[in-house]
Amino acid sequence: EAKQAGGGVCRAWDAGSASAQEDRYRISSDLRRTLERKSDAQLWVAYQPIVDLMTGQTVGVEALARWDHPARGAVPPELFIAAAEASGVIHALGRRVLQQASQQVARWNESRVQEGHSPLWVSVNCSPKQLQGPSIVEDVQAALLESGLAPERLILEITESALLVGPSLVAERLAALRNCGVVIALDDFGTGYSALSHLRHLPIQIVKIDRSFVAGLGSISADEAVVAAVTGLASRLGQTVLAEGVETRVQESRARQLGCTFGQGNLYAEPQPAADLDRVLVR
Ligand code: C2E
Ligand code: MG
Ligand code: MG
Ligand code: MG
Repeated sequence: EAKQAGGGVCRAWDAGSASAQEDRYRISSDLRRTLERKSDAQLWVAYQPIVDLMTGQTVGVEALARWDHPARGAVPPELFIAAAEASGVIHALGRRVLQQASQQVARWNESRVQEGHSPLWVSVNCSPKQLQGPSIVEDVQAALLESGLAPERLILEITESALLVGPSLVAERLAALRNCGVVIALDDFGTGYSALSHLRHLPIQIVKIDRSFVAGLGSISADEAVVAAVTGLASRLGQTVLAEGVETRVQESRARQLGCTFGQGNLYAEPQPAADLDRVLVR
């Protein structure tokens, strides 16, 4: 079994012979078949807590897709998300994650409110193809309706690469999504094609600073300068900043001092199955 051989990590899709393109094709056809089976055993959602850096309280969770391939073990998300994007399977996969995550967090919130805790939000990643596709607004509305999750408790994480392909279509979609009442976050900010005009022109409420900058907090002054510049700009634009990939107390306290409101990272918790968070989130 690949799981034993690779310690849970995916084995190369095809040992040497197949091209990257053939690999992608196989990944996406396997993924399509798995989605059709509708079972959660292979394809499931992990949750990573998001904390308020002032209070230390968990205020939300990010939903992250996981795929345990029966023969190959855990497939890295970067790999199967890219294949799903290229083949169009991303729409069905995205729908599944939206539905499951909304339902899970609505369930946690029911118990939390009973126990006197404030409800959590859930962040769901939305790839460029999904955002440009025709069904994203309907998919979001359906997930909200079926789960009963309040729209302002759902955050859609988009990346700047979505803006490269069809900026006007994306602006239209974001406006429609904002009309549904959901919140928009800009993920991995600072990597790729960061343009300050994106922050100014798009209806974005949360900026997630990429972990490559957070890594240098407390040690690399250039990274601190980037984080300070982003929080300074974001706060003047009325946006809130989240530091991704917080791994140490030093990074945490520098992120807080430099103006980040929220933190997410292995310092608090790694992404994990919902059942493992029940006790932590609903006390
Ligand atoms: P992302 O949205 O930026 O998610 C954060 C990634 O950082 C996750 O990787 C998470 O496990 C990792 N991470 C969190 N804290 C730490 C830390 O302290 N240190 C380090 N080194 N890493 C940390 P993951 O789960 O492998 O996901 C990778 C990417 O795959 C995500 O990046 C997202 O772009 C994409 N992805 C995952 N699930 C979905 C999904 O359902 N839909 C779409 N469209 N994309 C997804
Ligand atoms: Mg994300
Ligand atoms: Mg990110
Ligand atoms: Mg990322």
